[in-house]
Amino acid sequence: MALVGVLGGGVSGYGAAVLAAAHGYEVLLSDSGTLKEPYRSQLVRQGIPFEEGGHTLEKLLTAEFVVKSPGVPDTASVVRAVRERGIPVISEIEFAGRYLAPQTRTVCITGSNGKTTTTTLIHEIMRAAGFRAELAGNIGRGLAMQVAEVPAEAQPDWYVIELSSFQLDGMYDFRPDIALLLNVTPDHLDRYDYRMENYVKSKFRITQNLRPEDLFIYNGEDTETQAYLPRVLPALQSGRLAFAVKDAAAGAGGAWYDAETGTMHCGDFAFPADEMRIKGLHNIANALAAVAACRRAGVPDAVIGETLRSFGGVEHRLEPVATVDGVEYINDSKATNVDSVWYALQAMTRPTVWIAGGTDKGNDYEVLLPLVREHVKALVCLGLDNAKLVRSFQGVVPVYDTASLEEALRACRSVAVPGDTVLLSPACASFDLFRNYEDRGRKFKEAVRQLLG
Ligand code: ADP
Repeated sequence: MALVGVLGGGVSGYGAAVLAAAHGYEVLLSDSGTLKEPYRSQLVRQGIPFEEGGHTLEKLLTAEFVVKSPGVPDTASVVRAVRERGIPVISEIEFAGRYLAPQTRTVCITGSNGKTTTTTLIHEIMRAAGFRAELAGNIGRGLAMQVAEVPAEAQPDWYVIELSSFQLDGMYDFRPDIALLLNVTPDHLDRYDYRMENYVKSKFRITQNLRPEDLFIYNGEDTETQAYLPRVLPALQSGRLAFAVKDAAAGAGGAWYDAETGTMHCGDFAFPADEMRIKGLHNIANALAAVAACRRAGVPDAVIGETLRSFGGVEHRLEPVATVDGVEYINDSKATNVDSVWYALQAMTRPTVWIAGGTDKGNDYEVLLPLVREHVKALVCLGLDNAKLVRSFQGVVPVYDTASLEEALRACRSVAVPGDTVLLSPACASFDLFRNYEDRGRKFKEAVRQLLG
């Protein structure tokens, strides 16, 4: 029996192991840390072999191929060893894609920012239209797990799949029916040798197998996309559709926003942007991309319009929390890079006390300076090491150096007056003080609600 090695035992690794076992492979799931529940006990129950706290390399080196979870870096010695032996290393989506039911089509969404928002919106629109659509990828239950656990006849018509660059790195033959590349701005450069080109290349893998009947939807005014697109065009077989929010001409023939009339357009679909509950130019961009995808999938325009009106956004993304003593608090904990903060600050309409900081991913704050001058009345740094932030903004706005949420909120309260906004939009990962960005966002919301109290 051929062996499949699975590296990492989270949602995608667990799903890959179950799927491999279901298709008659011998499996070894191998995790350098400890496995989380419920995956651990489910593996035990299903009799799928696994190991924790290290890798039995001799065994893994006999695998036919290895499915690597997105969280396992390419630099891990086990990954290197497997590759050196010439064993293919693929992602969970690549693996699951081999077993999709014949009726199932996929819309895949990647980009540096806006993936979850756009993926969720597309899914909601499709559901509203009565399509059998499921979420997968970085959100939802994981593609391999769903492919493994749902019988073929009950498989959905559509999987709406959020793809990170780490998933794309391990994709070779997988082919989306509709592919979206929302934008490419610096993020995760620590995993790409600090070379932007490697990261851009990874994002463009989403186009690699598109056929004439597929559609590539991309950002017509994104600098990195514009620069790289000519390199893929000679091999690109599918149709393509650009969207644009700043320069309508860049989205001509595709999807565009007319700022003068405040109208979003996609072909003969037109919709007033201010009727959406999600705010900011970036969300108009996300919505345009979603509209283009859903029209292509055959959703009637009326259903698209209704869902655009009702969609309330996703938790931790410019999420209004409460107004305390006339000060509005917004949780944008998911803003873990500079570009998403740029859009958050750009969407601010009132004087803003900006909370930022955490684990720096090689940020360059320079691009934020004009917006900070325009919208920010004080910066409250929240992190164990705030030196870089402090250095970047000292002399531009008053800067407070804090190392706990309580301290940060005290600083905010001391500067904010009625009519101001306090915005948590960190530009950094959260791992110094919190478990993850959700933990950071929830603790922020709790602390704000306590102020109400
Ligand atoms: P992702 O899944 O790609 O991380 P999210 O939808 O979770 O994207 O949003 C992450 C952060 O980026 C949030 O702070 C959000 O407000 C911001 N954001 C959302 N869409 C965009 C966009 N198109 N461009 C820039 N920033 C965005």
